[in-house]
Amino acid sequence: MNPEITEMLKVAGRFGEGKRFLMITLGCQMNEHDSEVIAAILKYIGYSTALTPEDADLIIINTCAVRKKPEDKVASLLGKYASLKNRKKDLIIAVGGCMTQQEDAANYIKERFHYVDLVFGTHALPRLPKLLEEAGGQKKGIIVDIEETYSSREGLPVAHSNHFKAWLPVIYGCNNFCSYCVVPYVRGREHSRSFEEVVSEARSLARRGYVELTLLGQNVNSYGHDLPGNYTFADLLTELNQVDGLERIRFMTSHPKDLSMKLIEAVRQGDKICEHFHLPVQSGSNRILDKMNRHYSREHYLELVEAIKGAVSGVSITSDIIVGFPGEDEEDLSETADLLERARFDSAFSFIYSPRNKTAAAELKDNLTYQQKEIRLQHLNEIQHRISKEINNQMANRSFELLVEGPSKSNPDVQTGRTRTNKLVHFTGSDRLVGKLVQVKITDVRTWNLIGKLEGELN
Ligand code: SAH
Ligand code: SF4
Repeated sequence: MNPEITEMLKVAGRFGEGKRFLMITLGCQMNEHDSEVIAAILKYIGYSTALTPEDADLIIINTCAVRKKPEDKVASLLGKYASLKNRKKDLIIAVGGCMTQQEDAANYIKERFHYVDLVFGTHALPRLPKLLEEAGGQKKGIIVDIEETYSSREGLPVAHSNHFKAWLPVIYGCNNFCSYCVVPYVRGREHSRSFEEVVSEARSLARRGYVELTLLGQNVNSYGHDLPGNYTFADLLTELNQVDGLERIRFMTSHPKDLSMKLIEAVRQGDKICEHFHLPVQSGSNRILDKMNRHYSREHYLELVEAIKGAVSGVSITSDIIVGFPGEDEEDLSETADLLERARFDSAFSFIYSPRNKTAAAELKDNLTYQQKEIRLQHLNEIQHRISKEINNQMANRSFELLVEGPSKSNPDVQTGRTRTNKLVHFTGSDRLVGKLVQVKITDVRTWNLIGKLEGELN
């Protein structure tokens, strides 16, 4: 571990010795990874994990600010913990993540939930031990640390929640300022990790038995622009493809404006690089794309889809859509519907537009009621679900490689796994197979997942 970080962690000594923590994570993969870092820091200072809130000496909520829904969830969770805090005065309640990085949200938590002990932002992770020690010892009210200056994460420990697949952040923050999006305000400017740092972490994970890595960034395609040496994301993928022991490399998210032919070529050539692009389009209307500040047209987007499908055989493409952006009219909606038909995504997540504080779009006038937006969402979902099912139907009676992820929630004899194209498959099998690659024949097809029959083990 980096000596500076070791020193920082030492500040709090073994503050958590004999105590237990419970963490609730909302939001995206980057947040899940942050929670793994937080968990490792807590373990380093002595904490172990609690199974229930009643069991915990520390409850941490790692929040998401991208839409209103996850923010509402934080209020409902905090409401639930009020009586617990009343009964257990020593309980520390801490709220971190993207929501708290906004000053008004941090103030709202502070005023409405006065029993919260600590509010920490996305840049505060290296200071967490010290903050917790202060929160545990203080009697003077809530501590807030939403400092915006970037602090390096290099060398912070990670408690991977899995023994065979891991998240690997390659670029933090975002410079794109899509007009609806709060991420640049809560995660700060883009900051690529060094090429050597990423490759050496990948090697170390592979040596420890990890077979699948997912490279993370708000826009992985801008990896390297802030590094010396002209490295691109395609170079990084090609280098990681050489790491012995790895079987699968995934990446997300790709911004269409920066997706290069070189990247498509790297995916085509790299035998470990999975045939899957998550390429959020957001809208099929050029007028709306322009207002969203996305810097591409529907025509360019469809050309990219064609190039990817033409180059990478068996590839899957998934996307995100925002419905009900201010000013979206019937024609814009039908352009999005038309794009869904042309692009034929394997799946797409559609979200109702949610105005976010500070963003440019928050100033625009909303022209639709929530109910009208829901109807639009349903319309797009119906189209996409039909397409997803049609694409999945083509997988019937064919064999695919799966990485087995674990038993299904409803039946311990049924294992779930993912194909290289990120499709979820259930099959009957023992949990001895978890973390292994197997071959499965698809016997039944649904919109969201597939059913398979185990044919054999591959590693
Ligand atoms: N960096 C990624 C995604 C970040 S947020 C990208 O550029 O694609 C994940 C998804 O949430 C986005 O793709 C978008 O579809 C959705 N989203 C972001 N802000 C939103 C908002 N204000 N309202 C509704 N959906 C939003
Ligand atoms: Fe948000 Fe756009 Fe950055 Fe994605 S690229 S995080 S949507 S600002």
